Amino acid sequence: MNKAVKEIRMVDLKLQYQRLKAEIDAAMAEVINSTQFIKGPQVKTFENNLATYLGAKHVIGCANGTDSLQIAMMALGLQEGDEVITASFTYVATAEVIALLKLKPVLVEVNPDTFTIDPSAIEAAITPKTKAIVPVHLFGQCADMEAIMKIAAKHNLYVIEDNAQAIGADYIFTNGGKKKSGTIGTVGSTSFFPSKNLGCYGDGGALNTNDDELAKKMRMVANHGQSIQYVHDEIGVNSRLDTLQAAVLDVKLKYLDDFASRRRSVADFYDNAFKGLQNVQTPVRAQNSSHVFHQYTLLLKDGNRDEVRKKLETKGIPNMIYYPIPLHKQKAYLTAGSFPITEELCKNVLSLPIHTEFEKEELEFIANEFLEAIK
Ligand SMILES: *Cc1c(COP(=O)(O)O)cnc(C)c1O
Repeated sequence: MNKAVKEIRMVDLKLQYQRLKAEIDAAMAEVINSTQFIKGPQVKTFENNLATYLGAKHVIGCANGTDSLQIAMMALGLQEGDEVITASFTYVATAEVIALLKLKPVLVEVNPDTFTIDPSAIEAAITPKTKAIVPVHLFGQCADMEAIMKIAAKHNLYVIEDNAQAIGADYIFTNGGKKKSGTIGTVGSTSFFPSKNLGCYGDGGALNTNDDELAKKMRMVANHGQSIQYVHDEIGVNSRLDTLQAAVLDVKLKYLDDFASRRRSVADFYDNAFKGLQNVQTPVRAQNSSHVFHQYTLLLKDGNRDEVRKKLETKGIPNMIYYPIPLHKQKAYLTAGSFPITEELCKNVLSLPIHTEFEKEELEFIANEFLEAIK
């Protein structure tokens, strides 16, 4: 490993903390001194600030991103056997909660360029039992929401946007209008897992909606199904955003756009370094979305991904495969049907380090070693 280069991390939370330490420490100390660890005032403050940032009427904090998907599906009253359409190429949580609630996950293919759910595949998968669509805004850019909302309106379906990887991205409508990712469907759900673009210092998640009734229902479901203390009209869950996490998030929310622009400059650097390569597809930027680069994911076309990975590792360059096994081939979610694009992606994608704290020399080192590794 090049001695001039410090340890390269996939995500550098340490350097980011050191940069924001004064503010974060003060915010955390305030919570600890108040001892209001649950339902402290910082939770409401953060929910309000995030609602303003997103341009959403309601934000409801919860314990993690997986819970946020579950709470949305429970609050929408989805019933056993209802079909929920989602992408075959995603993190397991999306399909997991559908199955957990005894709904039926219906997986559909993704677009080979943007890797987000293919609207024509959604349309083809609709049956009389279909109740909802869960598009995933994968790796930091929005799925084709305009097409998805059209299908949803035509078939009277709910749309739950899995916005865990794209918070802060803009969806750009054909008429040029913009909305924040997660605010176009019936409900948006997100995760504040530490490595996400807006990450806390533990687990956290949130839901957003413009529907007053649904917001009330989601708050109730997240709080043991109670509307008034000790009155339980429905079965709920216990899923709260801790005050300490809300305090950290409220500090980091101010920097979310700055984080995105730092990530984008890393992506621009890589794009430029890998321009014109025949055997590598750099991330395709969708026309209808800004990209906040939760991941920088390449597609290697020579079928040599695992060798490339090994070479990078010997040089001290971490890298990841999001995602190595398609959902339809996971034992828990075995699905008949053919998903050739998803299978191709699982075999050939490679994500390079991307975060908010890179220096140019490190990026040069990574890019040069990558160019060596694919030779
Ligand atoms: C991270 C993630 C989740 C789950 O979030 P957790 O906070 O880890 O529960 C759900 N969906 C997607 C697409 C994710 O990336």
